[in-house]
Amino acid sequence: MLNSPRLSTLSGYWNGKFQRGETQNYFEVYNPATHEKLATLPEMGAQEAEAAVDSAEAFLAGDYDLEWRKKWLLEIAAALSTHRVEMGQIITLENGKPPVEALAEVDYAAAFYRDAAQRIHHLAPQTLPTRPRNMTWRIYHRPAGVAALITPWNFPLAMLAKKLSGAIAAGCPSVVKPSELTPLTAIAFFALLDELGLPAGLVNLVFGDAPAIGQVLCARPSVQVISFTGSTAVGRLLAAQAAPQLKRLSLELGGNAPFILFEDGDIDHAVGQLMANKFRCAGQTCVCSNRILVQANALDAFLQRLKSSVSQLRWGPGLDDYDIGPMINAAGFEKVQRHIQDALDKGAELIVGGPIADASKGHYCQPTVVLGGADDMLCLHEETFGPLIVVRAFDDEAEALRLANDTEYGLAAYLFSQDSARLERVARQLHFGHVGLNTATGPTPEAPFGGMRNSGLGREGGLEGLMEFIEVQTCPVGEP
Ligand code: NAP
Repeated sequence: MLNSPRLSTLSGYWNGKFQRGETQNYFEVYNPATHEKLATLPEMGAQEAEAAVDSAEAFLAGDYDLEWRKKWLLEIAAALSTHRVEMGQIITLENGKPPVEALAEVDYAAAFYRDAAQRIHHLAPQTLPTRPRNMTWRIYHRPAGVAALITPWNFPLAMLAKKLSGAIAAGCPSVVKPSELTPLTAIAFFALLDELGLPAGLVNLVFGDAPAIGQVLCARPSVQVISFTGSTAVGRLLAAQAAPQLKRLSLELGGNAPFILFEDGDIDHAVGQLMANKFRCAGQTCVCSNRILVQANALDAFLQRLKSSVSQLRWGPGLDDYDIGPMINAAGFEKVQRHIQDALDKGAELIVGGPIADASKGHYCQPTVVLGGADDMLCLHEETFGPLIVVRAFDDEAEALRLANDTEYGLAAYLFSQDSARLERVARQLHFGHVGLNTATGPTPEAPFGGMRNSGLGREGGLEGLMEFIEVQTCPVGEP
């Protein structure tokens, strides 16, 4: 299955070439759709991470201007667009998402590099228009240092693009650490970078023993930015490890998104938006709606349309172009099954779908809708990360707000109403970093995106995404 020319060297990358270090350990990568083994990779650890940081550190000595960085950003975007089908196939193979979603991910990733190139001029030095203390004041945007970019498996190319585009724009060399579940996309991407001839040290790649690699990245003084996307638990651990040196943290963590339909909302539109939002990557995205709150008067009509839409979804192996692929692994599958069973045990009514006992042919979960149930159902408090929709009714705006904010997370929320004053009023009181108003769209490269509370720190996308990798240096200029 792995016939990509860009997967001929299954190893890490530092000092401008593919290499694997001294490790004698290996791990395997599987296709979640079939359980077929895709590759055996060297399991790198602390020693290889040290070498990758050395490589990045050497790059820091250079001075690369904005035009130079812009050129590379645009070349990377172009290379991704040229090889979109090949990259998309690799994403589908190791992640399981359908080809149409994988291609959309490649295009989305390319757009981050393109957008960073287009806004890089904001990083030019500035001179204050006034002369405080009778001096010229210059403000420089310096690269913060080496950036550690640690990414998850659900968008193996796009989550890297969000970080690497900002790091390159800022002039920071990077050490990339993809998930061991989906390292092939990163390897193929590095093969593209290698073909482009990026200078040695600008980008580096290690994978394998995540805790050992993470410890090196947090301990090395030259690593000044830890940019991580993944679970809140690992985000907290990295924050603790990075604390002694007060490194910059950019943490894109878990979510528990409320989707709120008020009685004056357009029900057909809301259901369409929910379907597109909830089932992308089989429900394994951080911005997937996790709690569907519907005002009581709209509940029956909403449920009827939702049931009809969900019943039509086809689920099966990604390469066969089903609507919904498999869960990434057994743990993901079991979590969804546990949430469904727990909801049913706690009084929720099964509207469509249900648990699946047999995962022998792949970790497929049926798209499932449940209604009601108890306040302590797991699916209300944990990110299900799978195709389970739990619908609950509310009476008024105050109750909707209380239910929506009843979570430690604060990543995405969605509101549907035809009353613009209500949308504005409710959004203001929600503690979520991304609030869709009559839309359940996720982030876009042009705008900042990130979480509040336990969903993280910092923003990706927009100018804010570039500033995560910048140290501002202020130079008042006295008379010689
Ligand atoms: P995860 O288990 O936290 O893993 C994320 C990354 O961290 C992987 O590369 C993993 O490597 C690595 N890692 C694990 N333990 C580590 C350690 N001790 N030190 C350093 N790195 C370590 O999360 P996941 O299951 O892959 O991703 C799902 C989570 O990501 C969900 O909670 C989702 O909401 C969140 N997410 C958030 C956003 C956002 O923008 N906020 C976007 C996408 C996903 P290995 O896989 O090799 O162990």
